[in-house]
Amino acid sequence: MTIAQVIVDVPSLGTDKVFDYRIPKKWDGMIQPGMRVAVPFGPRSIQGFVIRLIDHTDIGKIKDIIQPLDLTPVLNEELLQLGDWMARETISYKVSVFHAMLPVAMKAKYEKMIRKKDDAPLLLEELLKNKQEISWKEAEKRNLLPALYKEIQSGNAEVIYFVKDRARKKLKRVVEPIVRKDEMEEMLQALPSNAFNQKKLVYHLLKSNQGMIEAADLAKKAEVPASTIKALIKKGVLSEHMVEEYRDPYEHKNFERTSPLPLTKEQQAAMKPILHSIEHQSHETFLLYGVTGSGKTEVYLQAIQEVIKQGKEAIVLVPEIALTPQMVERFKGRFGSDVAVLHSRLSIGEQYDEWRKIQKKEVKVVVGARSAVFAPFEHLGIIIIDEEHESSYKQEEIPRYHAREVAIKRGEYHRCPVILGSATPSLESFARAQKGVYHLLTLSKRMNDRGMPPVSVVDMREELRGGNRSMFSTELFEKIKDRLQKEEQTVLFLNRRGHSTFIMCRDCGYVMQCPHCDISMTYHRSSSEMKCHYCGFQTGVPTECPECSSNHIRYFGMGTQKVEEELVKLLPEARIVRMDVDTTTRKGAHERILEHFQAGKADILLGTQMIAKGLDFPNITLVGVLSADTMLHLPDFRAAEKTFQLLTQVSGRAGRHELLGEVVVQTYTPEHYSIQLAAMQDYQRFYNEEMSMRKIGSYPPFYYLALVTVIHEDLLQAVTVTEKISNFLKSNVSREAILLGPVASPIPKINNRYRYQCLIKYKREPNLFSALRKILEHYNPQASRDGLSITIDINPYNMM
Ligand code: ADP
Ligand code: ZN
Ligand code: ZN
Repeated sequence: MTIAQVIVDVPSLGTDKVFDYRIPKKWDGMIQPGMRVAVPFGPRSIQGFVIRLIDHTDIGKIKDIIQPLDLTPVLNEELLQLGDWMARETISYKVSVFHAMLPVAMKAKYEKMIRKKDDAPLLLEELLKNKQEISWKEAEKRNLLPALYKEIQSGNAEVIYFVKDRARKKLKRVVEPIVRKDEMEEMLQALPSNAFNQKKLVYHLLKSNQGMIEAADLAKKAEVPASTIKALIKKGVLSEHMVEEYRDPYEHKNFERTSPLPLTKEQQAAMKPILHSIEHQSHETFLLYGVTGSGKTEVYLQAIQEVIKQGKEAIVLVPEIALTPQMVERFKGRFGSDVAVLHSRLSIGEQYDEWRKIQKKEVKVVVGARSAVFAPFEHLGIIIIDEEHESSYKQEEIPRYHAREVAIKRGEYHRCPVILGSATPSLESFARAQKGVYHLLTLSKRMNDRGMPPVSVVDMREELRGGNRSMFSTELFEKIKDRLQKEEQTVLFLNRRGHSTFIMCRDCGYVMQCPHCDISMTYHRSSSEMKCHYCGFQTGVPTECPECSSNHIRYFGMGTQKVEEELVKLLPEARIVRMDVDTTTRKGAHERILEHFQAGKADILLGTQMIAKGLDFPNITLVGVLSADTMLHLPDFRAAEKTFQLLTQVSGRAGRHELLGEVVVQTYTPEHYSIQLAAMQDYQRFYNEEMSMRKIGSYPPFYYLALVTVIHEDLLQAVTVTEKISNFLKSNVSREAILLGPVASPIPKINNRYRYQCLIKYKREPNLFSALRKILEHYNPQASRDGLSITIDINPYNMM
């Protein structure tokens, strides 16, 4: 094999095909599919992925690969194939897909070096100060570029682009005794009496039966200076080497080992078909539908155990937000150091280390957020997606894939089960389970038959009519006070999405909007400023209305800060912790807040979405939802589903243990079915109700969606292009497809750029994807030229 087919790192469709490059003799046998290489492309040298090796090409003049950028493949055969499929399904470029599969750390940076040729003349030797190469930067600094340029021209030197990994492997110095015990004893006798430290160290080695240890640790333990260790290395008592150090973010935690629990009848019934699939190596997708606390995680754990027993590996996906230490603890507790953890709160280097553990086959299980679905395991035995309904499994940037679909694709390849778990399955998944596409498994009871906590729905309009202007209903407030007295814990949940604090004039109704985006600005109390959450624009808080000059201009809505302030005023004795984006930006803050609360150092945990998941503390007996309907009115066909899911999830936080819990839901629309049915914890009825709404609206799961969004700073341009695209699509789909557009996007302007869209609802359209691809191909060159952007989202989750 002398020719490599390479996908080059130029994300535009014209180059989304393979290019052939000759493998120079010196790299013969070294270059393999799945490796990154540097190749010449036009006048530049760029990075690419080797897809396959071939013997012969019809292309006449082909160029040589410059150099390999990896020494082992970073993508295996399966992932390369998967990438092909993903690029097709998400209408994106292969190179973007490959990048999405790799840890961020490997999105390498180029560095330019100038290297002299072997037989270069002496002059160059002087310029480079006898070195083989010099960095472009240094050459620039030393003003050598013109001289070097001449050398390059005459073929005495070359420019080499190479990739600098942002996260380098971290190495640590370890030492290890390499002499026998009796030799050490002899040595102890022989050492002169003034070699006090050396004696001490040898004595320590003998007594502690020391194996390999980090040099610094040994010095500390034996209470000797570092120089003593060096002395013993010189004498051949210790050997020294560097080993790769993993920055294990959980290394300082001691996870208590747990053993499998005897399964309940329901759990056994759910387990059986899963084990069957594992044993017979037959792929099947299971929907494990079970209320919170019904023992789903225990089923995951025991299924994984079986997989490990068979010498295979497991991927567990958990929503980013739910990747709390508690969740990680359950897996580490069962499988110890066989578990790698991947999520975005780890530093880039930490993520890279965890990924390498997988690649080097040092772990059997990975627990991680969305992108962990690409874990480079080669003998996958199971993939589990917990809280499968979570929208964070859909990537909102290129490539816009859904982890569920990728997991199923990988499950097919590895002929292994995929388990989707949820208390509130997505309508899509539940519909598939009803049709028998997925295998439905149900856990209907909570462990120990603890019922779901009672939920009371409070109509906030009534409260207002009764003269209560506070953000707490009488009922909720009384219950919080009661919990304070009993020293039990309360969780208050504020759903802020789409409803943060905004400024409104009470006289004329003017709402302060961002001048660059069509969206109301958010009031930030801490900095006393108005901020736009879309473009970051900031401005002062107006004291009078810009429209009617009234000074009755006030902020409305609730932010967590405001709720906290009011709580402090009303209940000065309460100890409150707040968890939202503002308090959790620092690394580890999320964990610290939860630990603090768990340790009983606070009475009330107040937070956003973040606290809806994974909380499992015995002392929480009250959950309050401050305004349940804020999400309900968003222009999103999933608004009711999301509301239902969130309320059910939040309610599940109360009374999971011995103490009884209850839930209070405050709302301005108590009659809405999503709120009513969430209060009754009736998923089945919600599913039926919502399915009929979806049918009427021709939405998923009855139709598939494709959303094309056109963004341009010139309104006319945005509209015209969207119109052209809509017409083109119309001529490429059947009459059964429904085309909505061109219309303005729900947020018609962001950052001074107008947004127009065309939404396609379809069932079976064999030509649609190729038509969409043509659109990209056609507009892409223009896109880079005049600031036009076109995004194509297949099965979008973000409708804004
Ligand atoms: P879910 O994942 O559905 O929310 P979990 O697996 O977390 O449910 O189970 C809820 C609680 O019940 C946990 O504390 C768990 O340890 C316990 N549990 C699960 N299965 C069993 C079992 N078979 N016997 C006893 N306790 C169990
Ligand atoms: Zn006004
Ligand atoms: Zn803005």
